[in-house]
This record gives sequence, structure tokens and C-alpha cells, in this order.
Amino acid sequence: LRSDLLTSSRLKDARACARLHHLRYNLGYRPVVSADTLRFGTLVHLGLEAWWLAPQGERLEAALAALEGAEVDVYEVARARVMLRGYDARWGSAQYEVLGVEVPFVTELRNPATGAASRTWRLAGKVDAIVRDLSTGLVMLVEHKTSGEDITPGGEYWRRLRMDSQISVYVEGARSLGFEVDGCVYDVLGKPRHKPLKATPMESRKVTRTGELYSGQRAFDETPEEFEARLTEAVAASPSAYFVRGEVVRLEEDMRDALFDIWQTGQAIRESELQGRHPRNSDACTRYGRTCPFFAACSGEASLEGNPDFVVLEDMHPELSDVPAAAQREEATP
Ligand code: SF4
Repeated sequence: LRSDLLTSSRLKDARACARLHHLRYNLGYRPVVSADTLRFGTLVHLGLEAWWLAPQGERLEAALAALEGAEVDVYEVARARVMLRGYDARWGSAQYEVLGVEVPFVTELRNPATGAASRTWRLAGKVDAIVRDLSTGLVMLVEHKTSGEDITPGGEYWRRLRMDSQISVYVEGARSLGFEVDGCVYDVLGKPRHKPLKATPMESRKVTRTGELYSGQRAFDETPEEFEARLTEAVAASPSAYFVRGEVVRLEEDMRDALFDIWQTGQAIRESELQGRHPRNSDACTRYGRTCPFFAACSGEASLEGNPDFVVLEDMHPELSDVPAAAQREEATP
């Protein structure tokens, strides 16, 4: 069962909590139901994959078509449609030659001190897109993220990317495929926080003398169409709060630092395996506003064995298989 592939999701879990890594990558447990934020990220990613694959002029249509039939809450689909339309309006005119979309790779993990390939680990992943910027001639990775964080340019979100290992892993991967990548076009889509409006509860309703509800009170729940229209207006009024694109460069010293980080994480995973010990890290149980799906198991309140809320995977990296990558999309935070 053991996989020798280090993906950026795996590295992220290993850095957060050794028990989390063990449960997911050694034992193969995955929760059956994903959180709402993941569903939004998944939908947007699915649409963007189609957007980048389609010829210029047909992109928005392709992106929206990719959402059709998605078995997800209709309001989440409405939210994703608004974001895809906004993305197309904001970035549709940028001139890129698309060299590949959802490009998988598996490559050696090199010891940054000696240059020798690891005999324990390989690096793997799937790059959202590889493009040539027609205005500069540079070859760039494209990475999309949805985020509920403040994505203002120059803010903490962007400063953290300077040391984000995912970009470095993808640069290594793209180079192993023969693409001389110069950096990464990093697209962040801020998740609108708006929620569908609900009908005012009967007991709280107040009517005017003419029999109409007070302003701000509603007789009916907002329909998905109304929600989509309201959201479109909000996003159009402030596109720079929802669509931010930055170019992240990777200098050789950045790559070297990142490889040291990855190498050490690989060593720590191996050490845990050899010791048969996978310590819990209670500081990581709540991240990005969500509680870890293994919380009940780790705190001794439930067992994972035979638990219907979990499946046990045989392939620890379904995101690398032919399953549409978006269906496996995980965190929205770098
Ligand atoms: S619940 Fe906490 S300790 Fe358990 S795997 Fe998740 S992060 Fe680790």
C-alpha cells in the first residue's frame, strides 16, 4: 500500500500533523463528505480547467458548461458561475499560448546538498496549466486557488507564497517534463461570503398599513437566480477584491531552500514509519476554519474502523489518476 510519491497535499498534511499524514497516506482513510468550501473550490477548478482548455472566444461557454450536471447545492453552483464569469471578464484578454492543462508529473526528489536522487521518495503532482506569455515569451506555470482569506496584493497571503513549497514542487515537475519554466502565474479567486437570503420567520414578520412586509423582511427564500444576480452585482462592483493575479518567481536559491524543506519533511515521514509512531498535533485540529475530519477518532470519541463516514482508498493519490483533477481538489489556502 505504501506510496513513495510526495505530492504537495501530502507534504502539507505531513507538516501539519504526523497522525493526519498516517491516517490519510499510510492507511488511506478519507472522509466521505467534503466541506462546503471544498465544493466551491472544486466547482471553480472544474470550470477553470475547461476555460484554459478551450480556444479563446469559447472559454466562458466551456467553463460554464463544465458545471452543468454537477450534483452540488444549486446556490454553490450559482456562486461558482458568478466567479467564472468574473474571471473571464478580468483575465480573458491576457495573451497566453496554452502548452498544457492538468499536466501530471512524477520525478526524482533530489537531495539539495548532493544532487543525488532519493531512494525513498519521488515528487509528484498535477500542474493546473503551463503557458507561454505571448507578451514576454516566458514559460509559466498557472496555479488557481480559491480562498476565503484576504487576498489583497502584497498582503500576508502573497508574502507566504514566497516560501510555498507547492510552486517549487511544480517547477521541478514541469522542468522534468522538459518545460523551462520561469515562474508561476498565481490566480486567486476570493470566495464571496454572501449567503442566500432566507424568508423572514413568521413570528418576526411585521406588515405596514398597506399589508406589505417591512423593508428588509422577506416573504420567500431567495431563489438561486436571484442570488446569482445579487452576487454578480457585488463582484462586478469590486473585481479587484475577488480576482487577483500575481507572478511568483522561483530563483535557484528559492528552489534550493524549498528542496531542503521537502527533503526534511520526507525524512520525518520515513522516521515516523520506522518508529511506528505518528504523533498527534492538537494545534492542527482546526485549520482554515474547519475541524479535521479525524478529530473524533483522535480524541477517542469514535473509531475509524467500519465507520461509514470514511472510505479506505487503495490509491493514495487519486488526484493524479484520470479522475478529473478538480474532483479531488483540496485545500484552498497556500
Ligand atoms: S484531529 Fe488533530 S491530531 Fe488528529 S489527525 Fe487531525 S490534526 Fe492530527
